[in-house]
Amino acid sequence: MTDHRDPSVPPTGPVPRDLHNFIAGLPKAELHVHHVGSASPRIVSELAARHPDSKVPTDPEALVDYFTFTDFAHFIEVYLSVVDLIRTPEDVRLLTYEIARDMARQRIRYAELTVTPFSSTRRGIDEGAFMDAIEDARKAAEADFGTVLRWCFDIPGEAGLEAAEETTRLATTDKLRPEGLVSFGLGGPEVGVARPQFKPYFDRAIAAGLRSVPHAGETTGPGTVWDALTELRAERIGHGTSSAQDPKLLAHLAEHRVALEVCPTSNIATRAVRTLDEHPIKEFVRAGVLVTINSDDPPMFGTDLNNEYAVAARLLDLDEQGLATLAKNAVEASFLDPAGKTELAGEIDTYTAAWLAN
Ligand SMILES: [Zn+2]
Repeated sequence: MTDHRDPSVPPTGPVPRDLHNFIAGLPKAELHVHHVGSASPRIVSELAARHPDSKVPTDPEALVDYFTFTDFAHFIEVYLSVVDLIRTPEDVRLLTYEIARDMARQRIRYAELTVTPFSSTRRGIDEGAFMDAIEDARKAAEADFGTVLRWCFDIPGEAGLEAAEETTRLATTDKLRPEGLVSFGLGGPEVGVARPQFKPYFDRAIAAGLRSVPHAGETTGPGTVWDALTELRAERIGHGTSSAQDPKLLAHLAEHRVALEVCPTSNIATRAVRTLDEHPIKEFVRAGVLVTINSDDPPMFGTDLNNEYAVAARLLDLDEQGLATLAKNAVEASFLDPAGKTELAGEIDTYTAAWLAN
């Protein structure tokens, strides 16, 4: 009998032994996904219609063309034009809540969402109102969808040290810092934006109890990953794709359990890797590195986390147990507390055992 269920809806009861359906229902954690970059065409078109002076198309079909990138610089340009649509606290709340709805449909149980508050505060959104908007959406999403959100505040590297100072202030000032904030990041282009200059800001964030998760080695060589480890004291690496060029680095990542936040489709869309078959994920696994699977800016790259798991299954030749292990890698590498990790890993095991017993 053909199964006509929407694959994004978690299966209930007996389901065919099909990997796509297994993935759709697998409880998952996502560690590398951007706030504005998670805006679906529906949300973007709604925001674009509310701000008609923007150059972003309002027609969802035209948005698909708009989201086709020629290179990394073009991606950043398009991304920033969507950032420009987030102008009021209501925009922020709507975006955040709707992202959580999309996550719940994919059975994402926990997500560390990378938020760039500097992009909003410098556009005139009141900083307190911004924090209230994301926190309000986080609590409503957890109550309504059961998806737990936590925040990573990241420095947009292209905006330089002014952005670093502002992001650090927002992340470490007691009366501003949101309850859900767990980590501190660095995004944007890597070429011409050396990681070590951000060391003083990461030092302050770490001193305030935040965990270090910079992007590194996405569009530059392994030296950037080393800089992230030694200068920014990274506990996980965003992408880290070029680590594969340096066996000593791979050994270091494996030994210290520094996870890589791998985002396969993103790497193709931004031309960081030429084809999926050339993606170094296999080398990471072979070297014993803790690999996590993530979607980065999913609607912009025409993907979602379930699709990234399917891509990983193909590239790594995984069965259900292998996919469950990948999902548990993300739990291990997350900043959930020990009880939260045990609970989510248990959910994954229970789901997988029930699936395999059918
Ligand atoms: Zn990213």
